[in-house]
This record gives sequence, structure tokens and C-alpha cells, in this order.
Amino acid sequence: MKIIDPATEKVIKEVDEDNATTTEVKFKKLRAAQSAWQDVALAERIQLIKKFSDLLEKNVEELAATLTSEVGKPLQQSRNEINGARSRIEWLTTNAEKYLRDETMVQENGMEERISYEPLGVICNISAWNYPYLVGVNVFVPALLAGNAVMYKPSELATLTGIEIDGLLKRAGIPTGVFQLAIGGRGTGELLLELPFDGYFFTGSYKTGRYIYERVAAKMVPCQCELGGKDPLYVADDVADIKSVAAGTADGAFYNNGQSCCAVERIYVHEKVYDQYVDEFVKEVKSWKTGSPTEQGTYIGPLSRKEQLTVLEEQLKDATRQGAEILTGGNKVEGYGYYFEPTVLVNVDHRMAVMKDESFGPVIGIMKVKDDKDAIRLMQDTDYGLTASVYSSDRGRAESILKQINAGTGYWNCCDRVSAALPWSGRKHSGFGVTLSHAGIRAFVKPKGYHLRSGAQ
Ligand code: NAD
Repeated sequence: MKIIDPATEKVIKEVDEDNATTTEVKFKKLRAAQSAWQDVALAERIQLIKKFSDLLEKNVEELAATLTSEVGKPLQQSRNEINGARSRIEWLTTNAEKYLRDETMVQENGMEERISYEPLGVICNISAWNYPYLVGVNVFVPALLAGNAVMYKPSELATLTGIEIDGLLKRAGIPTGVFQLAIGGRGTGELLLELPFDGYFFTGSYKTGRYIYERVAAKMVPCQCELGGKDPLYVADDVADIKSVAAGTADGAFYNNGQSCCAVERIYVHEKVYDQYVDEFVKEVKSWKTGSPTEQGTYIGPLSRKEQLTVLEEQLKDATRQGAEILTGGNKVEGYGYYFEPTVLVNVDHRMAVMKDESFGPVIGIMKVKDDKDAIRLMQDTDYGLTASVYSSDRGRAESILKQINAGTGYWNCCDRVSAALPWSGRKHSGFGVTLSHAGIRAFVKPKGYHLRSGAQ
């Protein structure tokens, strides 16, 4: 498999993909090693994961350079991602004991009723490329802490990062048999679906997630799908500082080139503040530096996937044909690299694909609304349900709107953020299951109920 730098289109490395034989051998290694890993004291497992985090810190520059070379995100955003992964690990290691230890629920008249949390066994993690550290850590860290063995399939677009993650986990002392890498794309993923894993944890598109869910259904094992979104954001008429709201929300739409599952994908603005907001938003977008991801100060680098350039062009063609206006951007950049200009569209509506389908790129539609009711109706008009955001100076108003939106996360005066303490979970085509928070630790265990009667029988 050729690894291509999206900024230059040059092949930076060639790696061997796994095949049916190697994936099976790896699976058997995981199966053989898992029960001994389960018996390692949780405190020791926590220490090993902390060492992994220390290694991430020590090697951040080198790791960030690799990440940027294969996915094209600006170097500073690669560093941010690795540091963000470390803070998630911090939360998970601090809280693992609390949520994994046995719980005595009832103790009376010689009867003890207890829950113990057993690992699922050998789990399969098929992952995405847009935040390989963050979405990887969400799964393999709690899985390992809970005593599972993990087959980790990084996206084919983040293979080198996957190899580095594997190397650092082993250097931290995670036994070889407990964590294995499956290298390759769709074909390798298909091979993993054939093997008898005890759980599947997928991050990626709705299309692939739905396919995997159907394929593994007959196994009757847990399957979690963290999928895409078309996340709405509403700017109400009572925001105090439109300039800063415009700058913050533009970052929410364009950070990582819009290639975030929780990127703001469509914006609704109250008619009273619409003109000023759009003006400030466009100014902000025009102020960014687009260019090589390794250059200091670059905010917009290349997209990670060449195919997405066509998706964005098609969305813009469809929108302008139906009356949308492009205020800035609108084209792919000529020359080498998968560059697309950051693009702002107005006069958009819900007949257009750009307001309905995930763009996953530096394109945003902004739509004027009459009132909160109008905003809620439009925010709800989607197949997805990952996050939703409201900007307003009135918390009650914002919370009341967020309650009416069927999404896994609600934001007031912020957007495009993830906290390790809170559940990360989609609704509808954004998937199901939970990572992060106490629920995201418990996702990797099976609760077992014990009824223990003491005394002479
Ligand atoms: P993708 O669905 O193309 O691929 C995801 C993974 O599935 C890759 O590892 C790929 O090799 C593998 N795969 C592809 N076809 C397969 C098959 N038939 N069988 C088994 N495995 C297969 O998604 P992507 O392009 O890597 O990621 C982008 C998508 O992920 C976006 O929709 C984004 O919103 C979503 N995402 C969601 C979250 C979340 O937490 N909800 C986080 C990150 C990304």
C-alpha cells in the first residue's frame, strides 16, 4: 500500500497490507494473550497506559510530523491532537478504577448482591483518519484498561500513525499479544469482519458503519458505530459580541479543514444579526493562511482525501444552480496537493446537498432565520444527530432549544469540542453506542450479577 502526502501527492512510504493469513495469526495471538492480561492488576494496566501517554509527550514533534505528512493537517493541529489525546488518557486512567471495580449493590440478611465488570474479550477497533489519536484513544485505551485485547485497524490514510501508536504502546510495556495492528483499507476491514471478535468498535462514515453493523449482527456481540454528522449551529439575536461569535464559529466550521465529525456543517442566523454576522464571518475566513501544513501559521492545509475535492465541487455546483451565492472561495487550488479554498455560501436552503449531506471539508452554508422556531425546525431537518450548538446570551433560551434537538451533544456558546468526562455518542445516522465518560469505560465490559448467600445451608 502506498502512503501519499496530500500536500505534495508524493509517495512517502510503502507498507505491506495484512491478508487473511496474517489477520488470523494476529487474532489468535490476541485470543491467547487476553486472559493473562485480564488478570494483570488494574493498577498496573493503568501505569502502562500512563507510560504510553508519557511517550506521546516525549515524542510529540516526531509524531506530529508523521501525522501531518499523511493526513495533511497543519503541524500545530497535529500537536494539538496528540496533546488532546493525552488529556483524554489522563481522564480515563484517573477514572478507570472507579468505574471498573466491583460494586456491592445490596448487603442484607446474609445476602450480598454484587456487580462485577468483566472484559468483553478480544475486540476489533476499525478507525478513521481525521483524528487518529483522538478517535483511537477513545477506544483502545479504555478497552485495554478494562482487560481486553485489541485489534486496531487504523484508517489506510493514517497507517504510519497507527504503526507509531503500536510501537509506543509496546515500548510502554503493553504485552505484544494484547495489541495488534491490522494494516490496510477496506479489504483488511472486511477480513476482520470474518473473525470471531467479542465486540466491534467502529469510527467512520454512515455508509461503512451501516454495512459493518449488518455484517456483524449475526455474531450477537456488541457493535458500536461513531459516525458522521451534519451539525447545526444557531446564532440568536441576543448575542453580545458578534465579531467574536463569528470568529469562534468559523473556527468550529473550518478547524482541521472541516474534517471533524463534530465540525459545524450548517449555520442558521437570526435575521436581526444576520448581515453583521456574515460580514464578520467572511472577514475571519479571509484572514486565514492557506498553504503547506508544515509552514508556520498555516490554518488551512490540504484535504486528506483527493476524492473529497470532487464531493465539494459537486455540492457547490448543486447549490449555485439552485440560487446559492459564494461569498469567498469556491474552487480547488490548482497545482499539486489536495487544496480547496475555504468557502462560504449564503442564500442556501434545504433543497441543496450542502445543507443535508456531510461536506467534510472547508465549505459552510449560512442561512437566515426568522426566529427560534424556524431555527429549531431547520436544525432538526437532518438524518444525523451528533452535535448541535446555540449562541445566545440567554442560557435558558439556549438550553430550551438544545433540548428539542435530537443530538448526542448540545453546546451553548461553544462548538466543535469533546470532553473526556462526557459521553460521546451519536443519534440516528450519526450512530450509537458511547465512547468517553463513565459510559465509554463501561462500553468495554460485561456486567455480571452475583447473588451471594452466606451462612450455613
Ligand atoms: P470510512 O467509513 O471510509 O472508513 C472508516 C474505516 O473503515 C477505515 O479504517 C476503513 O478502512 C474501514 N472500512 C472501509 N470499508 C470497510 C468495509 N467494507 N469493511 C470493514 N472496514 C471498512 O470513514 P473515514 O473516511 O475514515 O472517516 C470519515 C468519517 O468518519 C466521517 O463521516 C466522519 O464524520 C466520521 N467520524 C466520526 C467520528 C465520531 O466520533 N462520531 C469521529 C471521527 C470521524
